[in-house]
Amino acid sequence: MSTVRIHQLNVSYQRRNKTVEALHDFSLYTASGTIDALVGPSGCGKSTLLHVLAGVIRDYRGEVQIDGQPPTPRQQSIGLVPQHYGLLPWKRVQENIFLPASIHRQKADPVLADEILRTLELDTLLHRYPHELSGGQQQRVALARAFIQRPGLLLMDEPFSALDALTAERSRHLFMKLWQEHRVTTLFVTHNIEEAACIGQRVILLSRAPGTVTHILEKPNAGEIRQIIQEQWS
Ligand code: ADP
Ligand code: MG
Repeated sequence: MSTVRIHQLNVSYQRRNKTVEALHDFSLYTASGTIDALVGPSGCGKSTLLHVLAGVIRDYRGEVQIDGQPPTPRQQSIGLVPQHYGLLPWKRVQENIFLPASIHRQKADPVLADEILRTLELDTLLHRYPHELSGGQQQRVALARAFIQRPGLLLMDEPFSALDALTAERSRHLFMKLWQEHRVTTLFVTHNIEEAACIGQRVILLSRAPGTVTHILEKPNAGEIRQIIQEQWS
């Protein structure tokens, strides 16, 4: 599984002749086969960070290395689960799920695909279109797509935030079940403190915009995270 090394990453956007700084001197090292939860306030640059790692944003300063190389999605296997799932509405579930594999001209391992589809309870929904699914089902399609690709690095952008509490709980459970089996290096972005405590082996706290790392906590509980955040964000 991949390692991630980010050293003094700076990213800014140009908006109406103004420069908006999204990340400022952001540094983080993530070891192979671990899962980090990143927590930060809205607008602090969490999605920007994932887009840099996914190779979508190439205009940045600083060093970003995945297994010692800058992000190159064509050569590296990077799975991104975007906030709004990123499904193509005109393609059926089956085609959506196998899209990354077909873009990389790989054949997905049928045994693995079968196991993932059954774990996520998608095996009976393969011929539907995304609009024929509930939010929770769409989210599970995005998860299946990411895992079937067998990524070395998995990037999750607030993947359960649009779901109702019960559905989010169930999706979290299914995700952790898959994660325990595959142990892919994962950066999991959330603004939900309980979720971060439950999912992250480490919890990485970010400052207000422009985002930088303020704390790295090893297996904290939600109370510890909340206490630090109340001091920091108030
Ligand atoms: P988060 O995911 O933590 O909410 P984002 O990474 O989406 O934060 O955004 C960080 C900052 O960059 C915000 O101030 C946001 O408004 C700005 N931003 C994000 N995307 C763009 C863009 N395409 N153009 C201009 N500004 C942007
Ligand atoms: Mg975001």
